[in-house]
Amino acid sequence: MTTTFSSPVAVIGGGICGLATAHRLARRGVRVTLLEAGDQLGGLGTFFSHGDQAVERFYHCVMPTDADLLALLDEVGLKDAVRWRKTTMGMVVDGRRHRFNSALDLLRFTPLRLHERVRFGLASLMLRRWGSGRDLDLLRTEDWLRGLYGRRIWEEFFAPMFGSKFGPSFGDVPALYLWQRLGRERNVATRGYPDGGYRKIIDALRASIEDAGGTIRLSTPVDRLSSTTGGCSLTLPGGEVLDVDKVVSTVPLPQLRRLADDELAERLPGSDLRYQGVVTGVFFLRRRLSGHYWTPVLRSGTGFDGVVEMSALTGTGIHGGANLVYVMRYTDRSSRLYHGEPDRIAAQWTNQLRDLFPELRPEDVESVRVFKAPFVEPVYPLGYLAARPPVTVDGTSLFLATTAHVYPDVTSWNSSVKLANHVTGLVFESLGRQDTGERVP
Ligand SMILES: Cc1cc2nc3c(=O)[nH]c(=O)nc-3n(C[C@H](O)[C@H](O)[C@H](O)COP(=O)(O)OP(=O)(O)OC[C@H]3O[C@@H](n4cnc5c(N)ncnc54)[C@H](O)[C@@H]3O)c2cc1C
Repeated sequence: MTTTFSSPVAVIGGGICGLATAHRLARRGVRVTLLEAGDQLGGLGTFFSHGDQAVERFYHCVMPTDADLLALLDEVGLKDAVRWRKTTMGMVVDGRRHRFNSALDLLRFTPLRLHERVRFGLASLMLRRWGSGRDLDLLRTEDWLRGLYGRRIWEEFFAPMFGSKFGPSFGDVPALYLWQRLGRERNVATRGYPDGGYRKIIDALRASIEDAGGTIRLSTPVDRLSSTTGGCSLTLPGGEVLDVDKVVSTVPLPQLRRLADDELAERLPGSDLRYQGVVTGVFFLRRRLSGHYWTPVLRSGTGFDGVVEMSALTGTGIHGGANLVYVMRYTDRSSRLYHGEPDRIAAQWTNQLRDLFPELRPEDVESVRVFKAPFVEPVYPLGYLAARPPVTVDGTSLFLATTAHVYPDVTSWNSSVKLANHVTGLVFESLGRQDTGERVP
């Protein structure tokens, strides 16, 4: 027997969190409407057209530890679509390229002195064990790593490498974030990519929602949201008003604050949580670069902090023979780079990529695209585990499922799906308590 709930629910945002939420609710008989501001689904995992291919704007891969995402893929018949491959890592320091995969690579890693390489290796082996049982949420990453690795390894290596993700305050981020990240990536050599790209997952979720009677509306930004314990009211383009019993919002908290009415805005959490944005350059190249999936770039005079050679994971066949390479810089959305002219960024980053890889000739660069996203990575303050906002908002019928809620998990499709599972459970429960919906045999 399936229960059909007469209470309507709206989901704001068609990224993976909104899609997974709407999929779960619709499949359990809830009348759900998903509202997405953009003209495509997928959020940060969305795509652009390159010939007849859909290519992610931001590099994405699946990790073997992504249990919640893999379970969702299984549900929509895609688990076997993930192709797993061993990948390697490089490192560019002061313009010089290094391999960074094995103990031998570390011994040959000249940016560190010999005794530092040995210390680096030993500390890295023991890191997870030494962190176990400690309250890493209250320990600054800098204090933890400086203590284990020493001042110079922190300053020369970790500060620029991880600092590129969170900006200058990386040292203040709780060590728990790094601990979780090392856990997620403990088998860094193996990564996965879905056959047909992330678009295939997006399309499968869309089909699942619509098959179950859910509605998806693209190019429909929610302009205004009000919510009390009695329900929610959403103002859509053209002044259309949608009244629903519950809303699940997946949009980053600063964006949600802007669309909340005064009463709701007062109740919303997270006003002081800072977010990093990102700028990526997407290169289609006629030749291979290093063959490493991931290469952090430190102190090399580039505007970007890392290179992801996606074709090392996917092969070049799926992009018409081109080698797909991303370069990226995490940055505040108010920065000069973020507001830079895309063509200028593309030209500068092409020159800088060619400086790092002199074998890359101008004619090897088939095309370059630049993409930006303003809210990617919440910059977690110390003690965030206790300060993390709840997914319910007192005095309202609103549920929150955002990247600010996945901590201490690393922001990823997996953690968004895990959060969606949790929040839909709560929504379902709250509907069950009040709904008088008909029961369908
Ligand atoms: C460069 C980069 C690399 C990454 N690499 C990986 C990776 O390898 N593996 C991995 O798993 N994850 C990766 N991630 C992280 C992953 O993309 C995110 O954690 C995840 O996509 C977050 O999903 P979400 O649904 O919570 O939010 P989002 O994807 O941000 O979705 C929010 C949606 O809300 C919509 N929206 C905003 N305002 C409104 C409004 N007013 N009305 C209606 N809709 C609105 C937006 O248009 C958007 O579609 C990466 C991210 C980036 C940027």
